[in-house]
Amino acid sequence: MLETTLISYLIVGFLGAILGSFLLHEYDNYGKAKKGLKLRSICDHCGEHLKVKNLIPILSFLLQRGKSTCCNKKLSYKYLISEIGLASFFMVCLFFNNLTTVGLLFPALLLIALIDEKFKEIPLVLNIYVLLWISLNSNIGEHLMASALVGLFLLSLYWGYLFLRKTEGIGLGDVILLTTISLYYGLPEIFYLITISSCLLLLKIIISQKYKEQHAFGSWIVLTFGAFILFQEFYVFVG
Ligand SMILES: [Zn+2]
Repeated sequence: MLETTLISYLIVGFLGAILGSFLLHEYDNYGKAKKGLKLRSICDHCGEHLKVKNLIPILSFLLQRGKSTCCNKKLSYKYLISEIGLASFFMVCLFFNNLTTVGLLFPALLLIALIDEKFKEIPLVLNIYVLLWISLNSNIGEHLMASALVGLFLLSLYWGYLFLRKTEGIGLGDVILLTTISLYYGLPEIFYLITISSCLLLLKIIISQKYKEQHAFGSWIVLTFGAFILFQEFYVFVG
């Protein structure tokens, strides 16, 4: 029994480390030309093609003592951090028995937050992923009406702002994300979620005093959504 448990933790940890490596590569190369879904393949310093033995998550970094084998230069710690980070995150999820709920959602939410903060946009593929996750984890028929209302409201806000100010007040990616999350929560919960994430964004704008710049909203939406999910899972776990 102990062995099977140990093996499942190792497998889950290994998968988490691979995912961590993959997500970091996606983030680093976001928006670049010639980009497809793939893992890191060349050295950051000399551009040499990496071998499979250089790409084993966590282990390669440790065995190479944080240096590249081709040109012997220092590797960024971001590789080790993202791989160990997601490996341990997956193992914690396995421990709390919510690998398919929290485990499959949070890496996507994290990537949305990072990309939105940096590029002020939410990739459609991640919005679709969240929609898939929601359709697997809830009965989306239940909140169809609420979702349609929220979608229409946000779209009119989007078009209204565009018409009056000639600029986007809220991104279409945010509209899609909030409409999708409405399928999961329905009313009035989605209203609380929108209010809390808007307040957090406002707070950030006031604290940073950057009133004229464009700010990411999606990162605050996923932060609030993540907190809601965690609360719900923890509540269920304790209760
Ligand atoms: Zn190199």
